[in-house]
Amino acid sequence: MTIDPTPKPYFGYAAVIGRPNVGKSTLINHLIGEKINITSRKPQTTRHQVLGIFSEPAGQMILVDTPGIHKHERRTLNRFMNRAAWQALAGVNVVVWLLTAEGISEEDQRIGELIQQRNEQLPLVIAVNKIDQIDKPLLLPLLAQIQERYAPEHIVPISALKQLNLDRLQQLLRQFMPIGAPQFDTEQLTDRSLRFLAAERIREKLTRQLGDELPHELAVQIESFTEDATLARIHGLILVERASQKSIVIGKGGERLKSVGSQARQELEQLFDKKVMLELWVKVKTGWTDDERSLTSLG
Ligand code: GDP
Ligand code: MG
Repeated sequence: MTIDPTPKPYFGYAAVIGRPNVGKSTLINHLIGEKINITSRKPQTTRHQVLGIFSEPAGQMILVDTPGIHKHERRTLNRFMNRAAWQALAGVNVVVWLLTAEGISEEDQRIGELIQQRNEQLPLVIAVNKIDQIDKPLLLPLLAQIQERYAPEHIVPISALKQLNLDRLQQLLRQFMPIGAPQFDTEQLTDRSLRFLAAERIREKLTRQLGDELPHELAVQIESFTEDATLARIHGLILVERASQKSIVIGKGGERLKSVGSQARQELEQLFDKKVMLELWVKVKTGWTDDERSLTSLG
């Protein structure tokens, strides 16, 4: 008998689940080694299900980032996010549920209930994030409590930010990946279009610049995107709900919008590896958060 010198590659999907602000985006960014989606101090900035692609010679793992799972369902926007979050679970090979070392909050518990209702065949790995923020002795009882309550296949304490134990997490996740050929270019960071990346970057810069002033009901739409070998021309539309939000986004004398645009442009130039001309407009679109159809079409 001969041993096959080249083992078959793996290919599969891992969903990253967790309440807003647990560190999902930070984790995915570090796992795939490139920044493709938004991180910020403000929760709920990731509206879309972003696919990050972890590629190595041994195989490929697609990381599905989910939008925050919300407690309040009063508005269509939140219902939409909820549904999108659970759709991310369909067809994945493993669920990574992020908690933090601070303990299990009420919101975590609610997600835990939903996770316990998942298909029994779907393996669960719980990553306890932000271990850099607490003392080790406090961590052990928490891990025991999580094990008892949710009985995951594995628990891994990590720090997404400080990149602690991420190798271990990766190694665990690989075990759940079926054999399969890679389905994405190894060069490709995301299966989303460049338009999407542009919108995400603009949104991220807005989030950073506006901080607590950022209206929750804000969307970025790319109206046009044209490129040639050396230049990309992008027209972005920032949609807000009220005129007062519009002036916040624009800032005194247009300073804020200008600075958002210039920061986004610089990052997009690096990402696309070409010159970028970015024009941004702010428009009031009253009532869009309650119109699910228009939400689906927003970039
Ligand atoms: P998401 O809402 O789950 O996607 O969370 P983010 O990835 O946007 O992270 C929310 C905040 O937590 C950001 O300010 C991160 O820098 C911070 N954060 C993420 N991981 C860690 C960690 O391991 N340690 C610490 N101290 N902060 C973290
Ligand atoms: Mg996020």
